Amino acid sequence: MADAVVVALPGCEVAALCPKLTPGERGFFEQVDYTREISVSLMFKRAPRPLSFDTASFPRSAAMGLAALDVEHRKPGFAPPGAGLLRITLATRATDRLWEAPDSEIVDFVDRELARTPVGHLKPQDYAISRTDPMYPIFHPGYLTSLIRFGRRIDRSPRLFFAGDYLVGPSLESALTSGLRAAAAIPGVRAAPVVQRGGDVVE
Ligand SMILES: Cc1cc2nc3c(=O)[nH]c(=O)nc-3n(C[C@H](O)[C@H](O)[C@H](O)COP(=O)(O)OP(=O)(O)OC[C@H]3O[C@@H](n4cnc5c(N)ncnc54)[C@H](O)[C@@H]3O)c2cc1C
Repeated sequence: MADAVVVALPGCEVAALCPKLTPGERGFFEQVDYTREISVSLMFKRAPRPLSFDTASFPRSAAMGLAALDVEHRKPGFAPPGAGLLRITLATRATDRLWEAPDSEIVDFVDRELARTPVGHLKPQDYAISRTDPMYPIFHPGYLTSLIRFGRRIDRSPRLFFAGDYLVGPSLESALTSGLRAAAAIPGVRAAPVVQRGGDVVE
């Protein structure tokens, strides 16, 4: 039997995989929720037109079905020289509405939405749709309070420790921080220090 286990799953998967959680832990994990995301990559033999920005965000107030447009071919190595690659992320409502839709419907929707912007109609040679679920943990109102309560709980599953971005924030760095904290909480384990590029020990 293992002395300790660090459960490094998306928070929304933990309750299903750990049947022996305490009631308080189960209650916490059952309300952890994540966003999901649809993104569309549009590919062009020749970059469609000069786009002088790397990323554009569409504010919610614009009532667009799009959240962001990344001009990927401006990034070194993302597309062959002269070719074009745009990545468009759908807004939350459009993601929910089109989650089950065929790829062709999603790409038509993106085309129509882009036509409402200065980017205009585009004629990609090809496209790829990516659906990601779970994407980012949702820190909904009240979540931080339940997170603090979870961190201070007295009634703990023996030998189980938890790591994941849902415990700190929606990023790689936060996930790493949560892993270091989990390791440090295991009796007898001394977590390795994190060294920044400049050589400074930060934790
Ligand atoms: C497309 C995308 C782009 C991103 N870009 C950035 C970025 O640019 N910068 C940034 O800081 N963050 C980014 N993030 C967020 C970052 O990747 C996450 O915050 C981080 O990976 C979370 O780490 P984690 O250990 O909590 O979960 P994960 O890295 O998701 O690890 C969870 C693991 O659990 C496994 N798993 C899931 N379900 C089960 C199951 N039922 N049984 C067994 N194993 C299971 C998964 O396969 C996975 O290996 C991005 C995320 C995505 C999805």
